[in-house]
Amino acid sequence: MVTDIETGEGAERMRSAVVVGAGVGGLAAAGALARSGWQVTLLERADRLRAGRAALLIWPNGVRALRALGLGGGLAAIATPASLGGVRRPDGQWLVQPSHDPAAAPVVVHREDLHDTLVAGLGDRVDIRTGVQVRGLRVAGDRPAVDDGRSVWEADLVVAADGVDSLIRRRLEPESVAVSAGCAAWRAVIPWYRAPRLPDDILLGGETLGAGYRFVAASLGERGSSGASSRGGIYWVATAAGAARPEPPATQLALLRRWYADWHAPIGDLLAATEPDDLVQHPVRELRPMPREFGFPVGCGGVVLLGDAAHAMPHHLGQGACLAFEDAATLRSTVHDAVPGDQLRAAVTAYGRLRRPRAVRVARQNRRLGAVLQARGRLALRARDATLGALSPRLLDRAAIAAARWHPPA
Ligand SMILES: Cc1cc2nc3c(=O)[nH]c(=O)nc-3n(C[C@H](O)[C@H](O)[C@H](O)COP(=O)(O)OP(=O)(O)OC[C@H]3O[C@@H](n4cnc5c(N)ncnc54)[C@H](O)[C@@H]3O)c2cc1C
Repeated sequence: MVTDIETGEGAERMRSAVVVGAGVGGLAAAGALARSGWQVTLLERADRLRAGRAALLIWPNGVRALRALGLGGGLAAIATPASLGGVRRPDGQWLVQPSHDPAAAPVVVHREDLHDTLVAGLGDRVDIRTGVQVRGLRVAGDRPAVDDGRSVWEADLVVAADGVDSLIRRRLEPESVAVSAGCAAWRAVIPWYRAPRLPDDILLGGETLGAGYRFVAASLGERGSSGASSRGGIYWVATAAGAARPEPPATQLALLRRWYADWHAPIGDLLAATEPDDLVQHPVRELRPMPREFGFPVGCGGVVLLGDAAHAMPHHLGQGACLAFEDAATLRSTVHDAVPGDQLRAAVTAYGRLRRPRAVRVARQNRRLGAVLQARGRLALRARDATLGALSPRLLDRAAIAAARWHPPA
């Protein structure tokens, strides 16, 4: 509760926030603000709150951010340590041996488990409005506001967590545009009861690189097993240079089986056990250029960009959701004691100053990695294999460790 600066009568009112978008970023931010005493309205265009499909790797920075948001317990109940690390060629030969560096080890979570955890974190204090597509943003006047053409929501703080095509970002930073990153990705979770039984000598984890193709897999464990995801299964992500495919999922799956046909075990087994309904295709996009600001003071408060709305980038480092959690943790800490007026305006600016350089750094590492991962042509491939094989400390581990090195602000 803060003193009402509008009436000047010393009456108290809650600070208010409107969060636009109920993806992982919006859910994390809405819950964090509500738990800090803000009155929060969450607007989502879909007709209900829905989990994204498949799974996510949460790197140590994302784990720290979720803990800072008070969600560490929930995460511990759903996370499985991922035995990632190491890069192989399609024939199985190691380009980079796994390092097992605990500083860079991620956990893997089923997205539905993560969604349940984030929704539980909203408690009963968030006013959730689904079926609301925000169409307008007002940045003149005492407080920022958004509208859907029929109703207007005004608040001290507007959090734009509306994803890569963010309407709010397009209004505030029109030159920052979502463009193709030159590849498409497919991911799936093979449910635990259909997951292939793999011989002990077959390592599940790490990644494999071919000419313009990449495959990553991680185990979500047995369903309900202790310390594992409550849903279980095997998660994989395949990336291919080029555009997204227009064919139906069954044809896409047939294509994937053909592209990865000669790749080392267990890639073929995983694709064979996958069914078309398990498959999710993503055109991979990034923001070019990244917005110049993430925080915009307006009236007695402001507007902030969060998650993919601020810094959508390809998934090569698997950091998009982790960065969204960092954003939410940083926002919570910067606005924590800020009273609407100069303090909240300053907090909005501080949020942008803390977050933008961090996102720019990770995007740069991601782009370098993308160039190596997507090398095509014999010469480019040979150069890539030589680079990956010779680099010590390893390029991938270094990039992952650098990205994972973030700590929440005090
Ligand atoms: C193949 C692939 C693998 C990935 N792997 C990882 C990984 O391992 N680890 C990781 O950390 N990240 C990973 N990512 C990135 C991660 O998935 C995204 O960065 C993250 O989901 C972004 O979350 P968000 O909440 O910012 O946006 P979104 O999830 O896009 O949510 C935006 C929400 O806003 C809503 N919305 C949009 N416009 C409006 C509007 N006008 N009004 C109201 N609501 C609106 C949408 O309906 C949606 O619910 C991966 C991405 C891909 C493509």
